[in-house]
Amino acid sequence: MSTYDLVILGAGPAGMTAGIYAARAGLKAVLIEKALVGGQVATTYSVENYPGFPEPIPGPELVNRMQQQLDRFGAPILMSELERIIPQNKQFLLQLNQQELICSALIIATGASPAILKVPGEGRLRGRGVSYCATCDGPLFRDEPIAVAGGGNSAVEEAVYLARFAKSVSLIHRRDALRADKYIQEMAFAEPKLHFIWDTVVEEILGGESVAGLRLRNKKTGKVSVLDISGLFIYVGLQPNTQFLTVSVPEDAGTPCPVKLDEHGFIITDRRFQTSCPGIFAAGDVLSKDVRQIANAVGEAASAAIMARKYIEQL
Ligand code: NAP
Repeated sequence: MSTYDLVILGAGPAGMTAGIYAARAGLKAVLIEKALVGGQVATTYSVENYPGFPEPIPGPELVNRMQQQLDRFGAPILMSELERIIPQNKQFLLQLNQQELICSALIIATGASPAILKVPGEGRLRGRGVSYCATCDGPLFRDEPIAVAGGGNSAVEEAVYLARFAKSVSLIHRRDALRADKYIQEMAFAEPKLHFIWDTVVEEILGGESVAGLRLRNKKTGKVSVLDISGLFIYVGLQPNTQFLTVSVPEDAGTPCPVKLDEHGFIITDRRFQTSCPGIFAAGDVLSKDVRQIANAVGEAASAAIMARKYIEQL
């Protein structure tokens, strides 16, 4: 069984930053990633507000650069899924789907995933016109009428991106003002193919084999209408990737060490980025916090890695 000083869960910007700091400080560290190196950034068309890049940089290219820097310091990425964390005598036994590891400290940087709308038709038509990733699926809707649900930075930015391909993009927002930053709003208002449907919610996604339309309800007037579209992109916020924690510390493990979550399932830490379980730290979008940017995710991860190193030195 392999033994590490530090295991980092997740290989998005936060996980890779923690890996760079840990490996550069001489810790034996490994990252574990179950799906996509780079996380949400890997499916972002363009990043405009990460310092050091005066021109917009495609998300996958930013990820590639971070990974090259990680490789240079020698922290490997293991593609695997964590099933359980079992605290054992000031160490943690990690059960992955195909192997077990031992480590002295852990950083959880598993990020967050797009939230679902929870309306009829969404699950059935996922991948058949319902999408959560404009970069992945946008080109499939060339010259088709499509819609985007949400009013935050993600919804508005991705609606502008989708307008390159689609015949028209209807942005459906439940209020009459966008949550997105002013700069992003201005880009959207200047896009002729983008139309706004205010004060409206999607009640049902219609279609047999693929999306054919939406049943909408205006929240102010109560009026119900049908919008004919062939694709719906959903950007209504994020849900934390912390489901694994609910099964990771079993009651029978001897020394349960629960990681405290907020009411939405995001991880609560102290200002050293340590969770309620000593030796388990967290950083990035998985944290309970107000601002989710690449810039603050990497900052938190640098701090978490330094704090984890201090914790390991004190053991
Ligand atoms: P968000 O900022 O939480 O916005 C979610 C949007 O979806 C809000 O407009 C919200 O409406 C709406 N919404 C939530 N639940 C809904 C429901 N059940 N039905 C209909 N609408 C619903 O989420 P996000 O846009 O995914 O962004 C996540 C984080 O990443 C944010 O912190 C954001 O700033 C950041 N981000 C930053 C950038 C950038 O800086 N370029 C780009 C992308 C994301 P209300 O407005 O009424 O609440």
